[in-house]
This record gives sequence, C-alpha cells and structure tokens, in this order.
Amino acid sequence: MFYNNSCYFQVLIGLVILFCLGVLLSEYLTPRPDPIYWHGDESRPVIALTFDDGPSARFTPQILTVLAHYRIHATFFLLGRHAWRYPQVVQALSAQGHEIGNHTYSHPDLTKVHQATLAREIEQTESVLGQLGVRLNGLFRPPYSKLSHDAVGYVKRTGGKIILWNVDSGDWQGYPATTIVQRVLNNLKNGAIVVLHDNNEYDNANRQPTVDALRLLLPQIQQKGFRCRTVSELLGGY
Ligand SMILES: [Zn+2]
Repeated sequence: MFYNNSCYFQVLIGLVILFCLGVLLSEYLTPRPDPIYWHGDESRPVIALTFDDGPSARFTPQILTVLAHYRIHATFFLLGRHAWRYPQVVQALSAQGHEIGNHTYSHPDLTKVHQATLAREIEQTESVLGQLGVRLNGLFRPPYSKLSHDAVGYVKRTGGKIILWNVDSGDWQGYPATTIVQRVLNNLKNGAIVVLHDNNEYDNANRQPTVDALRLLLPQIQQKGFRCRTVSELLGGY
C-alpha cells in the first residue's frame, strides 16, 4: 500500500513538472507581437492628436491655449534636449493634463545608431522628464518613424508601446494652415492617430501654420462627432 501510494505520488510530481516545462517552453517559443500601434479602436469615433519634436517656448504654449479652449487633451512626444531647455513648458503640459511620450533625446535615425546609443537616447529623455516630475506611460515614437530591430526589442523588453500614426497632417512639409486642415479632415477616421509638430524655434522650424490649422480644425473635428483623447486613452478604449 505504501509502495503504491509512493509510486502514484512520484508519477503525479512528474506530470506536474512536465506540465510546467510545457508552459515555460510554449511561452518561450510563442513570439509576442511587437507593441506597435498605428491607430486605436476603429469602431468608435475617438481619435488622438499627437505633437512631435517639442516642446517649443513659442509654439507649444499657443497650442495649449487652443487645446484648452476646446477642452481637448493631446499626447506630446518630446525630445529630451528640448524638454531640458524649456522645463516650464513641460510642466505646463503636464499640469494641464496632456500626456507626454518619449521621442528620444536628440532625434537620431534609429536605424543608424548602436544599441548603447539607442538606450542612452531613450533613457536620457526619461531622466530629464523624471526630474521635471512627469509621469510617463511608456509611449515611444521613433524619429522619422524609422524603427530598427534593436529599437523594437528595447521597447518590448521595457514593456513600452511604439506609437506611429495613420493620419499625417503634413505640417512638417511647410504647408499652409488650410492645407493642413484639409489633409487631416480628408483622412480622419475612427481610431485615428494624427501626427502634428510643435518644433522648437531653435531648429528654425516655423509651426505657426500648425497653430493656425488647429484653430480651424478642432471645431470641425468636434462637429463631425469625433472625440479627442490621449493616446493611452485611445488604446485603452476609454
Ligand atoms: Zn520627430
């Protein structure tokens, strides 16, 4: 009797160990999808406005005024070097409830940098923003939307999300405000992520057309029945 019970017990332990190994192996062998997002839920009229390359002492405050007028929260993908230069603007963004994401420190092409540089670019920006009391949600946008295997791997390992877009305002091409408005309205759809820019004047970029376009665009977006949310809200489905 004792012998039989012991055997039964050993077989049971063996089966449990095999089961655990199977679970571990399948976890290891099943590739997790890359955390790359171009849009949110396409069944609901919710969109996210995103701004890259800031903050700027000249243009970001104007954008904040327009967004506040329409009670809209957006997501700003900041460059660390600009955040360091304009801490008050970063704090205003945060205080007004906008979401902040990481756009690297100095805007390199990530397909041309070594892994150590990639990590430094992301971590330096996290450090600057952390010192300014910004709470990050793990959102990352690669400069020029260029992604390398290393960059995807890094964001995946750190549990972040890579945020691209499916509506390009074209403001980076120097279009006038009316063209920017038309480009966005013509392509707007449920779940859209719209990319705009609030570059620093330090880079000689003039974003006044972007500011003027927003003034025309926001009432029309709302009239069409779209609600604007931050990227995390859009992806979280609330
Ligand atoms: Zn950029």
